[in-house]
Amino acid sequence: MDTLSYMMNLINGVYEDERGWRHFRVPNKTYDVRMHPMTLEWECSCPAYKFGRGKACKHIKIIQNN
Ligand SMILES: [Zn+2]
Repeated sequence: MDTLSYMMNLINGVYEDERGWRHFRVPNKTYDVRMHPMTLEWECSCPAYKFGRGKACKHIKIIQNN
């Protein structure tokens, strides 16, 4: 298990890094979904987000709807 996954398990699925991004995990996926509370920007590490030019992918929507 990598350090980020370990940290996130430790604090119930949300991890805030030193730059202020809040990281989320979609259940059973390894994608890193992150949100910045100051700019309210959302990013995901999946291919759909990468090629969607900033459009929210389904993983971002799952977290937003939680
Ligand atoms: Zn995604």
